[in-house]
Amino acid sequence: MDLKTAIRAIPDHPKPGIVYRDITPLMADGEAFRRTVEGLASAFKAHRIDKVAGIEARGFVFGAALATALGAGFVPVRKRGKLPHDTISRSYSLEYGEDVLELHRDAVAPGERVLLIDDLIATGGTAVAAAELLAELGARPVACAFVIELEGLGGREALAGLTDEVFSLMQFG
Ligand code: 5GP
Repeated sequence: MDLKTAIRAIPDHPKPGIVYRDITPLMADGEAFRRTVEGLASAFKAHRIDKVAGIEARGFVFGAALATALGAGFVPVRKRGKLPHDTISRSYSLEYGEDVLELHRDAVAPGERVLLIDDLIATGGTAVAAAELLAELGARPVACAFVIELEGLGGREALAGLTDEVFSLMQFG
């Protein structure tokens, strides 16, 4: 089974002209979910990852499973106001307005080998903000991983100076 067939295309969501890639069928299918996590894990098992940093919310699902597979810890990169302890924050642009990502100041230690993960990269704005947070703590991500890459939107290029490697399991044009 081609894993791409487990991704549901939702035309005109959340607004006209956008084809939303819905990953919930992939997560609901035991074999597809396992193969996704195994695919990510096999790409990074030689990287000696200390911590997987997952971006809220779908990055938590894949990030937690991947951390377990790699024997790494998991740290959450969250939306504004959710983390209870001392945080650092970074705002980033959305199509309309902006949003804020936060990270606990003690989530990673300088020099730790961190893998950043989210379900999908489009323009890269979200992942760039998360990578900058990690860099601010001295733990520039060794790689950034995504289940899906929407090609042609500049995401990979936006991350270029912030990590050594951008990896995606499947690509949509
Ligand atoms: P970017 O910041 O790269 O433009 O957008 C990526 C972020 O928006 C990710 O956190 C991702 O979860 C979410 N996102 C944007 N478009 C889609 C989509 O079509 N499907 C899913 N599952 N998430 C999306």
